[in-house]
Amino acid sequence: MKVLVAVKRVVDYNVKVRPKSDGSGPDLNNVKMSINPFCEIAVEEAVRLKEKGIATEVVAVSLGAKNCQEQIRTALALGADRGILVETDEDLQPLAVAKLLKAVVDKEEPQLVILGKQSIDGDNNQTGQMLAALAGMGQGTFASEVAIDGDSVSVTREIDGGLQTVKLSLPAVVTTDLRLNEPRYASLPNIMKAKKKPLDTLTPDELGVDVAPRVKTLKVEPPAERQAGIKVESVAELVDKLKNEAKVIS
Ligand code: AMP
Repeated sequence: MKVLVAVKRVVDYNVKVRPKSDGSGPDLNNVKMSINPFCEIAVEEAVRLKEKGIATEVVAVSLGAKNCQEQIRTALALGADRGILVETDEDLQPLAVAKLLKAVVDKEEPQLVILGKQSIDGDNNQTGQMLAALAGMGQGTFASEVAIDGDSVSVTREIDGGLQTVKLSLPAVVTTDLRLNEPRYASLPNIMKAKKKPLDTLTPDELGVDVAPRVKTLKVEPPAERQAGIKVESVAELVDKLKNEAKVIS
């Protein structure tokens, strides 16, 4: 079984992102970039399927500028077998990513496609769902457990107030939630080995996909600064402040 995993290059989760002074977007100058954490979980799940003898090949695909190669190499160091970069300098929005992934799926014919549930930069939570619709595949989103059973996959999903298990016939799309697994660290020998693994480059034109943006970002701004708290002397003072200053009770 071939597994395709989508890995996105995003600002590292430890970085405190600031908007550019003109509010046109986040300031990415000299900022550390990493694999989107949910995509790391996706790679880990695919590699575990390979270690169990269920998957035969794990292909990591990233879409974006040339430097997305770094995140593909990380996926290769974590255990993926080969990589595909769909290279473009266009700012890719979820619909364009889903269309490009659909074209890669048509070419590669994987039995399972694993994506993160969400990219931590755009917080879109759209790509997996759009890909499943475009490819005519079933989808198991927010997965906290994935079990392959013959020609189907059972996906336990984290939903509000509980868990839901769905059974999808393969090929299918799964998106990962935080509790699916704990990704391993890449060892130095595996980082070295990853440099020799194959990495092919394609372009949106070669895949026949129009990646023109459909959504225009009007403004990006930081959240309002939080005011410092104060200590009140009595319940009466608290009630007075809630009534007359915060105006949250009447
Ligand atoms: P989003 O819909 O943007 O929240 O992204 C959900 C998931 O789609 C990510 O965790 C990735 O697995 C995949 N994805 C989105 N954009 C890209 C990209 N440019 N390259 C590779 N995978 C992507």
